[in-house]
Amino acid sequence: MQTEKKTEQLGENLPHGRVSVLLPLPVYQPYDYLNENFSLSVGDFVEVPFGRRFLSGVVVGVGCGVIEASRLKYVLNKYDVPRLSKEIIDFINWVATYNMAPVGAVLKMVLSVPEALNTPRTVPGFFKTRNEYPQKYKSTFSRKTVLDFLSNHQPHTMQDITREAKVTSSVVKGLVAIGIIETVPITEKAAVELVSFKEPIKPLLNIDQHYAANQLVDLLREKSFSVCLVDGVTGSGKTEVYFEAVAEALRTDNQVLILVPEIALSQPFLDRFEERFGFKPAEWHSDLSQKKRRQTWRAVIEGKVQVLIGARSALFLPFPDLGLIVVDEEHEAAFKQTDGVKYQCRDMAVVRARVGAICTILVSATPSLETLTNYDLERYKRVSLAARYGGAELPVVNAIDMRKTSLARGHWIAEDLANEILSTLIKEEQVLLFLNRRGYAPLSLCRACGHRLECPNCSAWLVDHRAISTLKCHHCDYRTKFSSDCLKCGAVDSLSSVGPGVERLEEEVCARFPTARVVIASSDTLSSPTVANEFIRSIKEGKVDIIIGTQVIAKGHHFPLVTCVGVIDADLGLAGGDLRAGERTYQLLHQVAGRAGRETRHGKVWLQTQQPEHPLIKALINWDRDGFLREEKRGRLEAGMPPFGKLAAVIISAYDPKTVDDIARIIASTAPYFPNFQVLGPAPAPMALLRGRHRRRFLIKSTKNVNLQKVMKTW
Ligand code: ADP
Ligand code: ZN
Repeated sequence: MQTEKKTEQLGENLPHGRVSVLLPLPVYQPYDYLNENFSLSVGDFVEVPFGRRFLSGVVVGVGCGVIEASRLKYVLNKYDVPRLSKEIIDFINWVATYNMAPVGAVLKMVLSVPEALNTPRTVPGFFKTRNEYPQKYKSTFSRKTVLDFLSNHQPHTMQDITREAKVTSSVVKGLVAIGIIETVPITEKAAVELVSFKEPIKPLLNIDQHYAANQLVDLLREKSFSVCLVDGVTGSGKTEVYFEAVAEALRTDNQVLILVPEIALSQPFLDRFEERFGFKPAEWHSDLSQKKRRQTWRAVIEGKVQVLIGARSALFLPFPDLGLIVVDEEHEAAFKQTDGVKYQCRDMAVVRARVGAICTILVSATPSLETLTNYDLERYKRVSLAARYGGAELPVVNAIDMRKTSLARGHWIAEDLANEILSTLIKEEQVLLFLNRRGYAPLSLCRACGHRLECPNCSAWLVDHRAISTLKCHHCDYRTKFSSDCLKCGAVDSLSSVGPGVERLEEEVCARFPTARVVIASSDTLSSPTVANEFIRSIKEGKVDIIIGTQVIAKGHHFPLVTCVGVIDADLGLAGGDLRAGERTYQLLHQVAGRAGRETRHGKVWLQTQQPEHPLIKALINWDRDGFLREEKRGRLEAGMPPFGKLAAVIISAYDPKTVDDIARIIASTAPYFPNFQVLGPAPAPMALLRGRHRRRFLIKSTKNVNLQKVMKTW
C-alpha cells in the first residue's frame, strides 16, 4: 500500500530550533519545544517532557516564539512510525473548532493508544536449523509434527507451534536443547495481516442494486470529496450495494473505513464481509484488548489495514490513505458522542472526507432529516432501492387502539396481538415483541405512603432488575438490593411495580404461551459479543419462538423466520422534549417493523398505541416515510430548528444547587444580544440532577448565517 502518497507533501524538514508540539491533553494550543537532535517534519510523533511527565505529541509546525528560548525544554525522542498526515492534522483542528473542544483533546482521540508509537515488541521465534541431527537423535511422533510444521525454516512463536502441532512446549524446548531448533527475536504477530486483494466472488445484483452500485463506483473513481446516501427500504440489500464500492476502493489500494453505530452485534456482518472478500476486516471498539488496540492502531498508520469496521471512535484512527468512508445506519443516535469531546460522528465523517478528498457513503432505510436536507440542497447525492431483495414484501402494519382495549392486571398484550402470536407459533414462525425498557419495571412505589424509588444522584426512577434482585439507576452506577418493604415508611411488602419492562413482559408471555421458547434481548442479556453471537445464531436456527427485545435487537438483523412483530408501547418515546424525539421514534419503529417477513413469508406488525390517529403512527401504518419527514421538516422550518436553524445547549453543573443557580445567573446577565440570536433559560436541564450534579441549561438558537461557535466563545 502506498502509505507515502498523502504524507510526502509534508516531507520538508523543519529548521532546527523551535518546534510547535501538540500534546494529547485538554489544551487549546500547542507548546513550543527546542529541537537540535532530530530531523523533524510536521506530523512527526515525538516525546517531550511536560511537567514531571514525559508525553507523546505531534509536531505541528515551527514554534510560535512567545516564550523565551532559555525556558524551553528539548524534544527527547522521535518515534519510528509514519508521521500523521496533513489532512488528519487539519481534521483535528476542524473538529476542535466546530465542536468547541480543546484541540489537544481531539488529538487524544487520534492518539488513543500512545504505546503504539513504540517499536513493536519482540518475542522469541523458533526455527528449524540446517544442522545435522545428533547421532543419538530419537524421533518421536510429536517431534516429527513440530519439525514438519517448521520445515520452511521460518521462525514461529511458541504459541503457534504448540497450537498447530498440538504438542506441549517441552517438546519444542527439547529440540532446542539438542540444537535442531534455534531462536531469533521476531516482532509480535500483527493483529492485522495484509492480504493481497483478489477479485471477490460477486453476488448477482438485481437491476436496482446494479444501478446503485455503479453510481457509487463512479463516484469513487472521481477520487474527490463526495457524499452519497444509499436510501433503501429494510431488506433491500444496501450492504451488497456498498460492498461494490468497497471492492472498488480495494482495487485501487485505498483504505476503507466502515462506521457502525453498535459493534456488539456485528458478527453476522463480519461473516458476510469475509464470505464476500475472503479476509477479515480489522475491528475497532471499546472491547478490544490493549494488545489488539496497539497493533491495530500501528497497522492503520502503517497502511497495513485495508478495511476497518468500527464504532464512532474509529473515525479518529490515523489512516494515511483513506479512500472510502461508509456510515451504516447513518440516522442512529449512537453516532453522537455526548461525553468528553462532544461530536456527531456522521457529520465529522463528512468533514474527514472533505479534508481528505474522500468519498463517503451514508446508508439508511430511514435517513436523518439533516442528510435528506443536504440531498435537497444538492450537497449530497442519493441512490435509492425501492424494493426488498428477492421480491419479499414489506409487512402489513396495523394499530391496536389501547383506549378501547381492557387489559387484566399484569397484562400488556392486547387480545388481538395475543391471537396473532398464537397463530404465528402454530405456523412455527417467530414473534418479536418490542419494548424499549430494560429490567422488570421502570418504577416502583409504596402502596402505603406513595413513596417512589428514586436515584439519590439523578432525577430518575430506580429500575427494578428482578432477574438479579437489584434496583439500578440507568444514568449512574447506583445500585441497591431489591426489597419489597418501603424504605421511607417501613410498610412491609408494600412495594408495587408500575409498568412493564422486558422482564415483566416475559412473565406474561410465559404464562400465556407456556410451551413457547422465549428469550429476552437487551443490553443486560447480550452482555458480550460472544453471548450476542450465540443468541443471534439460535434465533436464525429456529431455536427460539418469541424474542422480547429492546432496541438492541430492533435494527439491521436479518431473521428469516420472524413474521410477527408486536410493539408493546408505540407511544413510548413520543413524549420527551428532545427536538428529535419524533424522528427517533419513527426511525426506531420503522426499523422494528422492518424485521418482519424479510424473505418469502409475509410479515405482520402490530402497534399498540393510545394515539392511533397520531401522524407518526399513521405514517408507520402506510409506510409513508416521506410523508412523515415532510411534516417533520415543515415543523422544524417553522420553528427555525435544525437543520434549518442552529441550536446549541450550554449546561452548567455543580454539586451545590445554590452555586449552580448563582453561576447561571451571572452567565445569563452577560448573554450577547443581537438579531437572529436568542438565548433561552437558564432552566433546569433535562436530568436536572445527574450523578450528583445539579444542572441548569441555556438553549441558544440562531439562524444559519450566525457563527454560533464564535459568538459562544466570546460570551
Ligand atoms: P438491508 O441492509 O437493505 O436491510 P441486507 O443488505 O441486509 O438489506 O440484505 C437483506 C438480505 O438479502 C440479506 O440476507 C442479503 O444477503 C440478501 N441479499 C441482498 N442482495 C442480494 C443479492 N444481490 N444476492 C443475494 N442475496 C442478496
Ligand atoms: Zn443515578
